[in-house]
Amino acid sequence: MNAIHKHDFSTEAAPIPVGRATFDQVLAPTYAPSNMVPVRALGLDLWDQDGKRYLDFTGGIAVTALGHSHPAVMQALHEQADKLWHVGNGYTNEPVLRLATAFVQSTFAERAFFCNSGAEANEAAFKLARKYAHGKYGAHKSRIVSCLNSFHGRTLFTVSVGGQAKYTEGFEPLPPEITHIPYNDIEAARAALGDDVCALVVEPVQGEGGIVPAAPGYLQALRELCNAKGVLLIFDEVQCGMGRTGDLFAYMGYGVTPDILTVAKALGNGYPVAAMLTTNEIAAAFTVGTHGTTYGGNPLAAAVALKVLQTIYNPEFLARVKQAGQRLRQALQAIAGDYAQVFAEVRGSGLMLGMVLQGAYAGRAKEIAKAAEAQGLMVLIAGPDVVRFLPALVVSDAQIEEAGGLLRKALDAFLSAAK
Ligand SMILES: *Cc1c(COP(=O)(O)O)cnc(C)c1O
Repeated sequence: MNAIHKHDFSTEAAPIPVGRATFDQVLAPTYAPSNMVPVRALGLDLWDQDGKRYLDFTGGIAVTALGHSHPAVMQALHEQADKLWHVGNGYTNEPVLRLATAFVQSTFAERAFFCNSGAEANEAAFKLARKYAHGKYGAHKSRIVSCLNSFHGRTLFTVSVGGQAKYTEGFEPLPPEITHIPYNDIEAARAALGDDVCALVVEPVQGEGGIVPAAPGYLQALRELCNAKGVLLIFDEVQCGMGRTGDLFAYMGYGVTPDILTVAKALGNGYPVAAMLTTNEIAAAFTVGTHGTTYGGNPLAAAVALKVLQTIYNPEFLARVKQAGQRLRQALQAIAGDYAQVFAEVRGSGLMLGMVLQGAYAGRAKEIAKAAEAQGLMVLIAGPDVVRFLPALVVSDAQIEEAGGLLRKALDAFLSAAK
């Protein structure tokens, strides 16, 4: 079992197996991926090992916002790959200086911290909030308030802050001093913000929790409560940021500015990169050596992210996202109306939309997603009751129409199989 050389790769003639079955043999069983294995993609088109084409309305879970194989992003990656990949945090680099400056110029932020995933960006945000509050008010101010059904990542701290108990079960003991409150409930937030609270974190549009936008006035009320109580307001825009709602960040559309913003998923269009954005005053709590990560802000990631940010932060691009979001919403609403026994409503913001199942069909989102895949349409779920749509922001009207047609076929097949 523990032989150092179990296998000699240098003399191997037989190809390494790459069928779906190999997943079940050699990967940790944390996922249950589709039976089809994607091999190539362009824009919103994707092809599997058998050459079957799919229309991708998952966007790699809100990641490939500019579509697969976007030419300008590929060029940025290739150009940087020819120059410099990595130097370590003993040196800065030109791409990260450009990227941080672009964030400072395009958002409320005065400082950026770069890392590799949404969970790490939130981990940095929660650690920074505690460090800031401990320095300013004392160590008693440690509590983090977050919303039920929220999702903030899978490290032990972020999954504990997240509001879904099923993700922390079995991982105890959990980090202490975390309180969960119902989303969109201002009175619950008021009651939770005691003198020991250092931060309140919220997704302006809840993603994994079922595509639930903040109600009008909710974020404004949180802002006022946090100001009154000396609590940092953290917006997790890992899923709803980077143009997804039709604004560069959802906070801009709501007109409510956080103290700390986290961004990941779409930032690299598939290249792993994430950021925590904040002000000079708050960032100053992170002094040299208090926090860090080896890959954060490496030249390759920063060069790609800058190209993505520059492409999305464009009034025409964002106006088109809003228009496409309206189109998709109308198409889904028409379908929800025609299949009224299945769907209760369509909700969401911009190109982040969910169809909510009802009645006898509650809990069957996964079956509908599978039926869609059989028709050549890739969609997501957000919990068992919501079919979720996160197409690339460059989706065309023709692709929205095609997706609607495929979804109708999928629903017909699902309903006749369900009889
Ligand atoms: C996906 C997601 C995360 C976690 O991001 P990872 O890159 O998977 O660590 C955090 N917050 C929100 C809102 C997300 O949607």
